[in-house]
Formats: sequence, C-alpha cells, structure tokens
Amino acid sequence: MVDAEVRFVSAVGEPSGRPVGWGIAGCGWVVRDFVAPALGEARNARALALLDPSADSLRAVGETLPEARPHTDLATFLHAPGLEAVYIATPNHLHLPLVRVCAEAGKHVLCEKPMAPTLDEAREMVAACRRAGVVYATAFDQRFHAAHAKLRELVRSGALGTVTAVRIRYACWLPPDWSPDGGTGERRENWRIDPARAGGGAFMDLAPHGLDLAQSLLGERLVEVRALFQRRVFDYPVEDGAVLIGRFAGGALLEQHVAYNTPESFPRRELEVVGTRAMAVATDTMGQTPGGRLEVISAASGERRALDVPGSERSPFLNGIEAFSEHLRGGRSFPYTPEDDLHTMELVELANRQGETEPEVRRVSEKRYIGTGSSGESRLRETPHGSRIPDEWPGEADLGAYLCANCGFWQKRFREPDRCPVCEDSRHVLPERGYEFLAPEVMDRRVECVWEEVEEGVWRFSVAPAVGISPSGYLVATPEGNVAFEGCPFYSEAALRHIESLGGVDFVSASHPHTYGALWQLVERFRPEVALHRDDLGWATAFGVTWPFDKSLDLPGGLRLLHTGGHFPGHAVMHDPGRRTLFIGDAVKLELAASDPTGRTSDGISAHKAFVRRVPLTKGELRRYREVFAPLEFTQTFTPFEQCRNVGREEVLKLLDVQLEGRPFVGVLPL
Ligand SMILES: [Zn+2]
Ligand SMILES: [Zn+2]
Repeated sequence: MVDAEVRFVSAVGEPSGRPVGWGIAGCGWVVRDFVAPALGEARNARALALLDPSADSLRAVGETLPEARPHTDLATFLHAPGLEAVYIATPNHLHLPLVRVCAEAGKHVLCEKPMAPTLDEAREMVAACRRAGVVYATAFDQRFHAAHAKLRELVRSGALGTVTAVRIRYACWLPPDWSPDGGTGERRENWRIDPARAGGGAFMDLAPHGLDLAQSLLGERLVEVRALFQRRVFDYPVEDGAVLIGRFAGGALLEQHVAYNTPESFPRRELEVVGTRAMAVATDTMGQTPGGRLEVISAASGERRALDVPGSERSPFLNGIEAFSEHLRGGRSFPYTPEDDLHTMELVELANRQGETEPEVRRVSEKRYIGTGSSGESRLRETPHGSRIPDEWPGEADLGAYLCANCGFWQKRFREPDRCPVCEDSRHVLPERGYEFLAPEVMDRRVECVWEEVEEGVWRFSVAPAVGISPSGYLVATPEGNVAFEGCPFYSEAALRHIESLGGVDFVSASHPHTYGALWQLVERFRPEVALHRDDLGWATAFGVTWPFDKSLDLPGGLRLLHTGGHFPGHAVMHDPGRRTLFIGDAVKLELAASDPTGRTSDGISAHKAFVRRVPLTKGELRRYREVFAPLEFTQTFTPFEQCRNVGREEVLKLLDVQLEGRPFVGVLPL
C-alpha cells in the first residue's frame, strides 16, 4: 500500500470544471434509495441515462433523476450523448460483462461491491479498463462516510495510541423471500442468496465492506485472513453467517462478524478501533446511510465522549460520487486504486475457500443433543415389505460426511479423513495433487443437482459440474415402491424434495462402491431398505446395509438384483424386465455416438476390471457375466454414465464372446 497519508484523505472537495455525465446500469433498491439521490445532489455530476430490464425500476429511479433517460437496451444506453461514467449496480455476476462493454465504449466505471463473484473476474475487470484507458473504482460507499473520515484522522494523528485491533459487527436479517420493501414495491427476486449470481452469501455481500473499511482506516493492508462460515437459520444455498479474523501488515488484528441471520432490532452495525490510548466506537455508521454515532473511550480515565463529526449529514454515496467525478476532471485524485480493491478481493477469495472447506460444525453440535428416546431403546419402523428396522441406526450420529474430490466416494468420519480407500484401491488412481475432501455444505454450493425422466418412471439424477467419476443415480418407480439404484455425488434439498414428491425411496442399492455416490443422503432422509451384495459390505461405511444378498434379490415391481462379480467382488446389476432395461453398473462401458446429440446411442462397447488402470477381466469373470446376462431380456443398457437404447442382450453377449474367444482385452468393440 503506497503512501497511506496521501491516499486516505477525506473525499469532500470543491468541484472543478463542468459536471461529469453519468449513467446507472442496474436500478434496484440501492440505486433508488441511495445512488440516485446522491447523483441528483452531486455538485460535479449529472445523471443522463438509466439502464434496467424492468420498467417499474426505471420509473422509480426516474422520479429522483427526471433528467436521466430510461433505457432497457445496453447499446442505446452507452450511446447516450454526454455519457462519460457508468455506475454499475447489477447483481454481481453481471459486473464483468458490463465493465467490459463500458470500458470498450470508453466509459469510466464505478462498480458496486463485491467487484465480482471471483478474483479472476475482478482482475479481468481492472485489465479491461486499463486496456481501454478508462478509470475503474469500486463503489465502497463506507470509505466516504463522514464518521469514518474522522476515525481515520484519529488513527493517523495518534490519538488512539498504538492500534491493536479493529472489531466489526455488520449484520442484517435476510430471509429467502426478502425484498427491500417487505413484499410491496420492488418485487425482484432475491439474487443475493443465489450462488450463481452473488458468488456467495452473507460473507460475499457484507465482508468486503469491513475488509475495505478496516484497511482504509488504518492505512495498511491486511496480510492474513481466516474465516468460518455457517448456514444456521435459513435454508438457502449460501452461508447466512461468517466470522473472519485477520492481521494487518503492521500487526494489528481484525475481527469481523457478518450475517444475514441477525434480527434487525439488535445492535448490528458496530465498529470499534482499539488503541493503547483510546478506543473509538462507531455505532450505525456502517451501512448506506449518513449519521450514526462516533465516541471515544479514554484509556486513562475510562471516560466515554461523543465526537462532533463534520459533514455527518452527507450521504457517503454523495461523497464517493463527487470524489470519483472530481478525479475524472483532473482535480484531487481518487484516494483508492484498483490494486487496493483487487487486494480485498484476494482476501475475500482466500477466506471464501477456508469458510467453505470448514467441516460442518452445525450438524455435529446439533446431533450431540439427539437422544435415543425416553425408553432408551431404538424406535422400530415398519418397511413396506413388512420387516421392521430401527429408525436410528447405531454408528450414524456425530460423524461428518466427506467426499473425495478425486473419485467421489463419501466417508463418514469424526474429522476430515487423510486418505480415500477407493482411490487407493488398485482399480483407481491416486489424486496427483493430494487429497481434497468436501463437506456436504461445500457440495451444496459447488454443484447443481439436476434430474431428468429418461424413461417413463425412471429418473436420472446427476450433478454439474462433475465431481470425481460423477455417476448418475437412478430412481425407478414401480407400483410397489420406488427403487434407487446407484447414487449421484450429491442430492440437493430440491432433489430430495422432488424424490419426496415422487413417493420417496423404499429400496436402495448400487452396483459397486464406485457408484455409491451420496446414497447415504437417501438413506438418512427416507430410511429405505438397503440391499448390497455381501462381498462389498466392507465398503458401505457411509450408510447402513439392511439387506445383504448372495446371488440375487427380488425388489418391488419385478426388479431384480443379480450378482456378477468381476469389476468388483460384489458387483451387481439390476434388471427391469418391464422396461427391458439392464442397469449394468460398470460391467460394461459404452461409448456414446457423436451422431446422436441426445446421447442415447452407443457406437462402441468394452468391459474391463479397471478401466482407468487398463486391467482386463479374467476368463472366469467374463464367463460369469455371460451366465448372468444370457437369460435376461433387455434391449436397453444403462450404465452409471450412459443410457443407451441400442445396446441390449445381443450386443453385450457379443462383446463377452469376442473376449472369451481370445485374450481378454480392455479395448472398445465397435457396434
Ligand atoms: Zn477417492
Ligand atoms: Zn467402477
């Protein structure tokens, strides 16, 4: 950080030259309530153009800025005569594309925080402005709050002594259906809880303010951060609370709590700067509004004194817009550089990663209080098939679930495991860069669980982006109950609810450990019978098995599990005679024909013991496959990865016969 003395000055200067022509891209409530009034009042700025897809939003902002022309089209907005600078206030994921086109059109950019959902996008924003020779700044309004300018002065003058810590509480109440006007007025969807558009939750939205402000107050950079996230109150896919600690270059510490889960009636906008001579306490200064209270507590006397804050009635947005406009006119230079903002984004990304990889603390603490019931005995539940199974299974409580990012195998452990048994098995390969294990919360943020009815009554669940080998999980509906065969790496709450709407799950099974996926989630949620071949029982550590079988097992609706061995000792397939479909597991692998964009046609088939490591099956194993498949009627073959309509009994047996004639091989037989 260069010359903090010069750069962190109060932003309120005298205007110079003609007013800067401004446009606003994105006219949500922050613009309506804060940015637009500030632009209307600024002495060196004039609002000329507004851009938003919603006519209602344009109308609402237009009431404050009647001179500004409304636009729903980006190109005509950018061509507005006299337009020099654009205030970008869209959802975060649109910042980069908008900054790019604004810069290419020669417009300077003042962009809402956080810069972007990722550091890479933020870097690209700054680079795009550099290439185009336009000025970029992030609209951190709180830098320009009068109380913070006064506080900065206290730090710089030494009035606080040696600063040891900055403590921040910055929180609000943001339920999933939150809207700025409590359900009336603006009715936009709450993008702040959508990971795809916001890039995160409470942390992403609120923490950058404190990180930036704390650095601006002390005039030095944070060089280390650590974070913990929670999803404690609201059932949305982003964190609803976070704590962050950090260390400044000079050795002072930062402590910050941000949250979407703090009732608005509590003290929730608090900033303290602790020094050896005095401590400054700013109340209700963080946020969008001017005002608030600034007090100092003397170390010598303990006396608490309120300070006069010059300019305390001025909106921080007004100060920021005037400072940026003045900079564009060649007056006093803007006191923050894009490098400052990128540094803050680096801290955000670092903390984000730590917050995400933290084990699921909430679940452990809650489970601690789950007893076994008043009688001390496990409750028994009747299954659809008349057996009785315990509702709570021993060994399930107090364990975290961890997914191996290399292969997708889940383990339940007291703490993050240091190895994955599937990766260390000779059929698989070790992760080149070491293990990475992901908690369910992380998976929830990282992947989208999607489903599709691939045949009538057969749903395929998968995740995007792929995780590990990323098998699909199938749910097969029968009149006698639903069967889940194979598991996808993660089932989102929406997916579980969809399964619930289909009648839940009565039976769970899988061909072999590579395709267990997150079956443990279905087991925990629906308490089904769990059937696995006895030879693979040792792998089922993330869920309990209620029904081990030997050669075969009849399931509801005429479905049947058949043991094949081969790829795994307990490898099994599921036959659906009604749909003439064989869920074949990894007994064969199908190559999808490029000519069929629907992915339902195969043009090559292979069978192996270990595809990745190129190990063929033995003749005995091939003969066993043949014995099992020959009596089955099927014209479709569903592996955990492909669902092909043109591969049936004939094609599969041909492959086995070719292999049995000569030396077993791992290569593909063209169809
Ligand atoms: Zn693994
Ligand atoms: Zn496999």
